[in-house]
Amino acid sequence: MAYKEPAPIKDKENPFESMMERFNIAAECLGLDDDTYNVLKSPARQVIVNLPVTMDDGSVRVFEGFRVVHSTILGPSKGGIRYDEGVFLDEVKALAAWMTWKCAVVDIPYGGAKGGIVCDPTKMSAGEIERLTRAYTLALIDTFGPDQDIPAPDMGTGPREMAWLMDEYSKTKGMTINSVVTGKPLVLGGSLGRVEATGRGVMVSAMAAMEKLGMDPTQATAAVQGFGNVGSWAAKLLYDKGVKILAISDVTGAYWNENGIDIDAAIDYKNAHKGRLEGFTGAALMAAPGDLLTSKVDILIPAAVEDVITIANADKIQAKLIVEGANGPTSAKADKIINEKGIMVVPDILANSGGVTVSYFEWVQNRLGYKWTLELVTERAERIMTDAFEKVYNTSIKHNVPMRIAAYIVAIDKVAQTYKFRGGF
Ligand code: NAD
Repeated sequence: MAYKEPAPIKDKENPFESMMERFNIAAECLGLDDDTYNVLKSPARQVIVNLPVTMDDGSVRVFEGFRVVHSTILGPSKGGIRYDEGVFLDEVKALAAWMTWKCAVVDIPYGGAKGGIVCDPTKMSAGEIERLTRAYTLALIDTFGPDQDIPAPDMGTGPREMAWLMDEYSKTKGMTINSVVTGKPLVLGGSLGRVEATGRGVMVSAMAAMEKLGMDPTQATAAVQGFGNVGSWAAKLLYDKGVKILAISDVTGAYWNENGIDIDAAIDYKNAHKGRLEGFTGAALMAAPGDLLTSKVDILIPAAVEDVITIANADKIQAKLIVEGANGPTSAKADKIINEKGIMVVPDILANSGGVTVSYFEWVQNRLGYKWTLELVTERAERIMTDAFEKVYNTSIKHNVPMRIAAYIVAIDKVAQTYKFRGGF
């Protein structure tokens, strides 16, 4: 059957179109010429593969997979692989571009990429997923490589799949090449500090923003939407800095405590209850989970899913500062309302880039054949995040634009300048 591009979801702001809207504003601020604009917005390479896999019952199923390399202007491309039934080429294209801007904003020598396989891993055995991962690796053997394109986990994949990918790639080369992929288990060359890296970057961004706004962290209150990897670590690290976390939430609901939530207790509870907060008694269940976003707090951290701050609730937001842990939590239409209200937003491509920063450290360590201590990883990651924040903040002052547009300006300018110096395309 011929490949058919799925239609966009109607009546919902597409987070990727939202991203392109911001890209366009930043390109205009920079006075980017049409030629460079067209180069930067088009993916460098798009690969579609069909992967036959023997299932446990002996039948053969063919899975469709993608890999999009958006840009290799700054260096080898970097980006996750998602296993999801709904993944489609246009989505992967947009996510690959997103990676280009994210790496550029934190000044990491990587381009952007993304991959995906149309499958439901929750309905497959470990053996089936392993055979699928190995088939995908072989099909993309000429695309992947530590100096070419470096995958990482994304939705539906984790250290286990990265280990299989690394092993399959290494077998074809006749030697162990662990730098072909990041997000590996620690014993295979994963980096210390990767698990908490994104939440730590959110904390560092929030602290830097509070300083600019003249807010004392020990007097500040916060609400965190999403209590998974990013949300729970961001909440924990801010809590350790003295910020009072009044609200947290996950798929089971939102939880509020006027006196501040004991985040250590909430994490212990979550770990003991299959990763969920349901039944947590350290806070009261809010009547409507969405009320967390508009609750009376100083700092709002959306760290769950995309498109939660929209024109439907933006004017009711009371926080002075929003730090975006999730990718694309704010729709482009909501930006205008938020800016008019004078709320500072540390955008996703800056605030959640701590994860890709430590992935980069993993690759560096693999290439050195050396392991850094947790202290070294933490110190270097915090410095990169602080420097990136300062650069974006200063750009926002210089161009008199919100931090989000400033982050795109920093990223696009870096890639555009590099492209011009390299020339010859
Ligand atoms: P995760 O799966 O560990 O956690 C997601 C959390 O959000 C869970 O607690 C889940 O219950 C909750 N959630 C889901 N839907 C919700 C809803 N409607 N309302 C409230 N809570 C809801 O995922 P994660 O790794 O923490 O990722 C969260 C976001 O951060 C995603 O947008 C992801 O793309 C982004 N991100 C993650 C990383 C990383 O390193 N993990 C890096 C960059 C960006």
